[in-house]
Amino acid sequence: MDSEKKSKQKFIFVTGGVLSGVGKGISAASIGAVLQAKGVNVSIQKCDPYLNVDAGLLNPAEHGECFVTIDGAETDLDLGHYERFLDLELTQKNATLSGRLLSQLIMDERAGKFGGKTVQLVPHLTGAIQDAIQLAADGSDVHIVEIGGTVGDYEGLSFVEAIREFAARVGRENCLYVHVVYVPFIGTSKEFKTKPAQNALNDLRGFGIVPDCVIVRTDDPAPENVAGKISQFSGVREDAVILLSNAKTVFKVPQLIAASGINDVLTRFTGNDNVPDLSKWDKIIEAQAKQYDKTVTVGLVAKYMDNEDTYISVLEALKAAAWQEDVGLDIKWINAETAADEDFNSVDGLVVPGGFGERGVPGKINAAMYALDHKKPYLGLCLGLQVAVVAAARRSGLADANSTEFDANTPNNVVYIMEGQQGKESTGGTLRLGNYDAKLYDGTKVAEAYGVTDVVERHRHRYEVNQSFTEAINNGGLQISGTSPDGKLVEFVEASDHPYMVATQAHPELKSRPNRPHPLFVGLIRAAKQV
Ligand code: GLN
Repeated sequence: MDSEKKSKQKFIFVTGGVLSGVGKGISAASIGAVLQAKGVNVSIQKCDPYLNVDAGLLNPAEHGECFVTIDGAETDLDLGHYERFLDLELTQKNATLSGRLLSQLIMDERAGKFGGKTVQLVPHLTGAIQDAIQLAADGSDVHIVEIGGTVGDYEGLSFVEAIREFAARVGRENCLYVHVVYVPFIGTSKEFKTKPAQNALNDLRGFGIVPDCVIVRTDDPAPENVAGKISQFSGVREDAVILLSNAKTVFKVPQLIAASGINDVLTRFTGNDNVPDLSKWDKIIEAQAKQYDKTVTVGLVAKYMDNEDTYISVLEALKAAAWQEDVGLDIKWINAETAADEDFNSVDGLVVPGGFGERGVPGKINAAMYALDHKKPYLGLCLGLQVAVVAAARRSGLADANSTEFDANTPNNVVYIMEGQQGKESTGGTLRLGNYDAKLYDGTKVAEAYGVTDVVERHRHRYEVNQSFTEAINNGGLQISGTSPDGKLVEFVEASDHPYMVATQAHPELKSRPNRPHPLFVGLIRAAKQV
């Protein structure tokens, strides 16, 4: 990075106060979307203060989906929002975790890299955070950094200090600090209460950061005097205090931000006064609001029933495909642990998403069996491919066919761990992760759906199809329709004598975009439309 470029590069820091989980990630992504719509080259990064080295071993029920990047980083679901909003492909450098930085620092200390100095949170960890920010920013005009959690959290202090120090590195004029606060409405007295937000802004100032812009999140629209009050107590100019109530859909937020005072803040900050071209978002909102003549019902055979975040990329991919196919979408959650044939029968198509561990697997195998027996449209994603292969092998007469993940001793181990992976079943970072090439067989449904035969998809799994059972799998109704270029790994299977039964060892949902749905999801919706 030459110094000319460095001095011109701008940084936007998005922090949160009062509560987390009120849309800091969506706000950060939407600010990026508005800048892109003004023609600015944007990059984005999430900093998470927890001590995990990556998100791979986090429980999805608590933490939501683990989003995998092209280079195989297992990250927080916010990176999925960023990819969908900004149509970027992110990498490990866009996900910065305390645990990752600290483990590197400790390794460097052991390797004697500090020349006898005392290794400290300030300046060593804060310096490492700033280096990580500059690394992720490389090549963009404006780099957005979202800091996870809320300001004042014990574990996040190093990040807050690092972004304060960062202004000295690149110049305060090149940094924009945006604080997202929540203002509750008290039903009994019918008023919006700004006190927690005032306290949150005081906290931020206490750490040496006076924000340039405050986004005030409320459930329902708040009156203008709420902005006035927050401005008065925080010293942030009133036109930079932006009221943002809950939007009907997250994809509306770029429009709301562009229509709000943030647009002026961004214009002043970047010097780019282009009017944002939001046509892409207009189309998405239109598709979302449309009353459709036909609605398809897709059954999501799920293990985690109480948290939409666990399957967020799958849900978004289905929605995007339905918009393109001009149909309404009704998602029916089918509990994999209690699923019965009536559940599978009551929908127009089935999706069996990825998963780890045995819970719910018999129901997922039944879903695949039902789809094969009754020609119900089916899309299998990762585990959804593995259960389809198990179902096909069982249909061919191998009653105890299974994945060794669920039955370690079955002689009919149609899904298994390949050599080299054995013994590493419960540790982090030992999966097949990130982008892998695949070759699709000519004339297959997947080749038709993609329109090409060389594809790249993202992976996150440990088990593979055992090709010594190809004949049994074929006899049970499934054909292999795509493999790794060397033919060793099965990447796609499908039922040729079926309207649409397609499964992939990959996670195509991660590549879907709201305005560019993934072809395998489009294929499912098209088939479900005919049911
Ligand atoms: N548990 C399976 C495996 O590790 C599938 C993983 C997934 O669906 N992401 O291979």
